[in-house]
Parts: sequence; C-alpha cells; structure tokens
Amino acid sequence: MSLLGMRVVVIGAGIGGLAAARALALRGADVTLLEQAPEITEVGAGLQISPNGMAVLRALGLDRALQDASVRARAVCLKDHRGAAVVRLDLGRLDDSSYHFVHRADLIDLLAEGARDAGVKIRLLHHVTAVDGGAQPVVHLATGSRITADLVLGADGLHSVLRPALNGPQAAFFTGQVAWRAIVPNTEGRGPEAWVHMGPGRHIVSYPLRDGSALNIVAVQERKAWADEGWNHADDPDNLRAAFADFGEGPRAMLDRVTEARLWGLFRHPVARVWQGDHLALLGDAAHPTLPFLAQGASMALEDAWVLADELARCDSVAAGLAAYQVRREGRVRRVISAANGNAWKYHIGFAPLRMAAHAVMRIGGAVAPDRMMRQFAWLYDHDVTKD
Ligand SMILES: Cc1cc2nc3c(=O)[nH]c(=O)nc-3n(C[C@H](O)[C@H](O)[C@H](O)COP(=O)(O)OP(=O)(O)OC[C@H]3O[C@@H](n4cnc5c(N)ncnc54)[C@H](O)[C@@H]3O)c2cc1C
Repeated sequence: MSLLGMRVVVIGAGIGGLAAARALALRGADVTLLEQAPEITEVGAGLQISPNGMAVLRALGLDRALQDASVRARAVCLKDHRGAAVVRLDLGRLDDSSYHFVHRADLIDLLAEGARDAGVKIRLLHHVTAVDGGAQPVVHLATGSRITADLVLGADGLHSVLRPALNGPQAAFFTGQVAWRAIVPNTEGRGPEAWVHMGPGRHIVSYPLRDGSALNIVAVQERKAWADEGWNHADDPDNLRAAFADFGEGPRAMLDRVTEARLWGLFRHPVARVWQGDHLALLGDAAHPTLPFLAQGASMALEDAWVLADELARCDSVAAGLAAYQVRREGRVRRVISAANGNAWKYHIGFAPLRMAAHAVMRIGGAVAPDRMMRQFAWLYDHDVTKD
C-alpha cells in the first residue's frame, strides 16, 4: 500500500515516536507528531543501543549521526559487588559489533532532526487527552481542539492515553525495584566497557558517555514499595551511597563522585493484549514497558517503529498492516521482557552460596567457552528487523 499523503498523527516525541515518524515520512506519509512537553529534551542519563537497534538507525539513515555522538562499546563486564571479575562479554564476537553507549539527549536530538528533515511536523505543548477510533480517528487535545487523521500511533510511553482506549484501564504496577541515575566524571579513565556490579538485591551498571569523559551510572535496589507520589524525584546522593555501602572500593569510589542523583520507581504493565485497532496502534513502552536490565527498551521501540512502517507499506490495507505488525513483534518483545526479568533475578541473588555458585558457573563459561557465552545473545543482537 502506498503511504503517500496518508495523514498520520504520532502521540509522543520519545525514541519510539520520533523513529516511527521518520520511518513513515520517508515513505511519503504526512506525519504530525504531538508532544506534551514544552521542548524535546531528556534528563541527563545514558542508554545502550545494541546492534539490533543500530540496524534500525542504519535503515533510517541515522547511524552515522549516532556513531558521532556515542562511544562504541567493546565489552560488558559482569563483576561481583566487591569488584572481582565474573565474566567479560566481548562484543567483538558478535556478527555485528556496533554496540553503542549514547546520552539520551543526543539520541533524541538526532532522531528529532531526522524527523524534521523527513518533513515531520513536530508540535510541542500538545497534550493529548483522548483518541476516538474509526476509519478517521480523532485526537482530542487538552486545549479542546481536535485533529483528524488516517492513522494514530500511541508512542506515549508508560502512561499512554491510547493503551487504555484499546485495552481498557489498567494502572502500571511497581516492579519492586528502584533505580538511581547519575553522571559522574570518568576520572578512573574507564575504557569503552559497561561494568555491572552484582550484589544481593542490588546492582550497579556504569559505562562511559560522549567523548568518554563522563560515566553514566544506573544503580538498582529492590524495595517492597514505592511511597513517593511521582515516578521519579531528586534524591540525596548520600542515600545512594548508603544503599551500596557494602559494595567494594571500586564501585564505592564511583558513587563518591555523585553530586546529583534522581531516583526512579520502576513501574510497568504487562505486554498489552491489543496493540492495534481501527486505524490505531501502540508502540514502544506504551505497548510493552520492560525492566531496563537487558538495556532493550529503546531498541525495542526502534524495532517497533521500523516494522510498523514496513508492514503498512507491504500490506493492502491499514488494518492488515497493523495486524501484521503486532504478529511480527509480539513474540520477540515477550522474549526480551522475560530475559530482562531473568536478569533481575540473576543480578540480585541474595543467598550467598547460590550467588557464588552462579558466578562460578559464569566464570568457568567465560574462561572455557567465551564465544558460546556471547552467542547466547545472538537471537537478540544479531536480529535485524530491516532484513526480516
Ligand atoms: C533506568 C532506565 C535505564 C534504561 N536503560 C536503557 C538502555 O540502556 N537501553 C535501552 O534500549 N533502553 C533503556 N531503557 C528503556 C528506555 O528508556 C525506554 O524503553 C524508551 O525510552 C521508551 O521509549 P518510548 O518512545 O516508547 O517512550 P517514552 O520515552 O516514554 O516517550 C513517550 C513520550 O510521549 C510523551 N507523552 C506522553 N503522554 C503524552 C500525551 N498524553 N500527549 C502528548 N505527549 C505525551 C512524553 O512526554 C514522552 O516524550 C531504560 C529505562 C530506564 C528507566
């Protein structure tokens, strides 16, 4: 089906919305992107973009921009909470080793520029309150005005307005995990490696950003409840240090450099049962929020964006394209989410003998069969949705 002139409204200028907007505009659609925020911006934090996400950026013509703005990763090193090496996953062993650490703001900037270059009209301060389905869906804005389209996409994240319209109301649930995020100077001169320090009920992920002069830190702790009323708030860095006080000298020295930290309650929904309806579809976190422990939320949003545009172009009707999109995406997304949940368990084993045994198995695996250790991720990283 030709997308030429198809009026598409995308709700949400996050990673998924911006990528979908560019993908559809490049195929000739007339795309308007509605974002509630006054500007397209992101709070300071890093993201890992793995080769499967890079494949989409390449197909969208944005891989060079991403390479210029990011650190090309060489390895992911798992360590125990004292700092002893467990296993080094050598990313060079992947078929495509284009794995990158990028500042979220830089990724959002290059996607926004890519969307604008493709002719997408980005409308800020446009808060969507409701969407009516039908052959010509109608988007309602907080200002009282309405926009009619041929297709409306909900790329509006965890608190999507479109998701309940397709699936019924359902509150996001607290996953029992909180995450501090901070950026510190890379005074230790860390090379292009992500380090994961795994301790009982907690872990810390850290990796260099931009020109390598900064380190991004995500420190996760299990908690029974999230009492705060918001989803995230500024927190005293001393609370972060106290939570990891029994970690080794290396991770503690890193946390000592934190001067500002935000604390996030990690919430999610189950994967939406219905991703698409009458000329409506969900993508990214709006359809399938995940725990960040496999670092795949952004890459899944990028994959969704590509497959959605691809299926619309391949199929004879919007309805058939949207249905094919959900079929092509759902199984993979469920597998990713389940692997991320599995990492939550693996990283946080509380019972010391079990933790030591699990680490010993990984250590031996890494020493004896390093290639096999890496190949276990082939299903994830080597999958290229642009070549399905
Ligand atoms: C601690 C942490 C670390 C992570 N690390 C990684 C990582 O390393 N790699 C990775 O791939 N992923 C990672 N993720 C996940 C990733 O950040 C998300 O999965 C991804 O940003 C989702 O993108 P999205 O476009 O679907 O939604 P969002 O980024 O949530 O964007 C939604 C947009 O919609 C807008 N919006 C919402 N409602 C409305 C409305 N009613 N009207 C108009 N606009 C609206 C919002 O303002 C926002 O701009 C991490 C997440 C967390 C919490």
